[in-house]
Amino acid sequence: MNIQPLLEKSSRDHSHLCPRQILGVRMGLCGLKALGLSANQGSKRLLVITETDGCFADGLTAATDCTIGHRTLRVEDYGKAAATFVDTQQTGLTIRVAPALDIREQAYQFAPDEPRHYFAQMQAYQVMPDGVMFTVTEVQLKTPIEAIVSRPGVRVNCDVCGEEIMNEREVRQNGTMLCRACTGHAYYQLSVSLSIYELLHKKNLHI
Ligand SMILES: [Zn+2]
Ligand SMILES: [Zn+2]
Repeated sequence: MNIQPLLEKSSRDHSHLCPRQILGVRMGLCGLKALGLSANQGSKRLLVITETDGCFADGLTAATDCTIGHRTLRVEDYGKAAATFVDTQQTGLTIRVAPALDIREQAYQFAPDEPRHYFAQMQAYQVMPDGVMFTVTEVQLKTPIEAIVSRPGVRVNCDVCGEEIMNEREVRQNGTMLCRACTGHAYYQLSVSLSIYELLHKKNLHI
């Protein structure tokens, strides 16, 4: 298969093409093959869970047409260039693809005339067989796929902060409906004890 059009697609929004994008394109194609699917192209049958963001993820998108905007790409940021591919609608088959542990050493065998590691990877990742590049494993998601995909468009309000929660991401606790932040699992904390609004309000009162 000629992967050049996919590499062009991946690098279109970057100022460069790099080994990670090529790895993402190849892994995306490998995942599609393992599930017996073609790129999503408007459907939502394939869900990809990428284990890192950045160039690698854009390579995955180029190959699979899965994007965050279409809710067909999710990031579980483990800092790994690996991804899980799910047939969400028919077979439920779930396949995790990761680089072979010796992928870099193998790459140098496939580009023996290129002493620069970066460029050796650029060349090799385009031609190495899937079986040399990747390990492909069937896995089971710990959260049911229906819950991960959820129902888009459902909206409720958090009983504590009042903010709107979409797509069934609310948490029900003792009869209350909470956003994840209000359950104590926020990725942020307020840097001051008062909100900006309250601070401004207070300042006005003092003028
Ligand atoms: Zn890059
Ligand atoms: Zn809340």
